[in-house]
This record gives sequence, structure tokens and C-alpha cells, in this order.
Amino acid sequence: MAEQRAPLETEQHLRRRGLRVTRPRVLVLESVTGAATPLSHADVVVRLAASGLDRATIYRNLQTLADVGLLRRVEAGDRVFRFEGVGDGTAPPLHAVAHAHFVCTACGEVRCLPDDGPFRPNAADVPGAAKGRPLEVQLRGTCEACVS
Ligand SMILES: [Zn+2]
Ligand SMILES: [Zn+2]
Repeated sequence: MAEQRAPLETEQHLRRRGLRVTRPRVLVLESVTGAATPLSHADVVVRLAASGLDRATIYRNLQTLADVGLLRRVEAGDRVFRFEGVGDGTAPPLHAVAHAHFVCTACGEVRCLPDDGPFRPNAADVPGAAKGRPLEVQLRGTCEACVS
């Protein structure tokens, strides 16, 4: 971890949003965008255990990256915010738009459903919903791993 080399694409994403390229930002962003499922702060702390970044630094960077739109906050109903990468939809797991999530009520795992799935959150269809504010759509059930 001596070098501060970041893949060019990550650097460009940060610069395009007006953020300086720092090692914590690159590590946190790549940790979340490289995951197949949305990650909580605690998940990212575990994944970056070897990096030497402390919990507070990771927390602060997650908030910053979400504030500028590089990450999206996902609320799965357990009062734990999770984060996922925002992309153009051509390279899963980066989703272009807000989408529904499957939540396993046994193990708590959260998985993304397709951007163009039938349960896409759309404020225009929901009476009283504020346009431009995030909506959460969830399917709750038991995942394959928890059935047996
Ligand atoms: Zn499960
Ligand atoms: Zn998702």
C-alpha cells in the first residue's frame, strides 16, 4: 500500500465531481463500486481493514462520495445506511438509476434488482411523494442461502 496509484477511471470520477484525488477516497470508492451488493459502513471497514484507514475516515468519505453523487444511499429498513456505486447501467453492479432491492429478513443481506425491473421507484407515480427525493422500494423475503 506504499503507492498512491489509482486506476485512471476512479481518479476521473473524483475530479469530475470536483473532489481531490486522495488515497482514502479512492479506496472507499473502489471498495463500494467493486462490491456485488450494497455495503454498510461496517462492511467497508471490514473490507478495508488492511488499508490502515480508521472508521471515522471511512465514514466521512462515504458521506462525501454520496453527497456528490458517486455513491447512492440505500435504506433497507433496518436503520443501517448502505452504499452502492452509481454508474451508467452498462457495467453491473453500477446502477444508473434508483431501483428496488431484495432484503433477506433472515440474514439481512440486501441485493439490487434490475434498473428496469417492475418495481422501479418513481416519484411521479406515487401520490404525495416529493419529486427528486429518493424513494425506497423493497421486496422482503428469504434468500436461497437461508432457506435450508
Ligand atoms: Zn438470507
Ligand atoms: Zn441497488
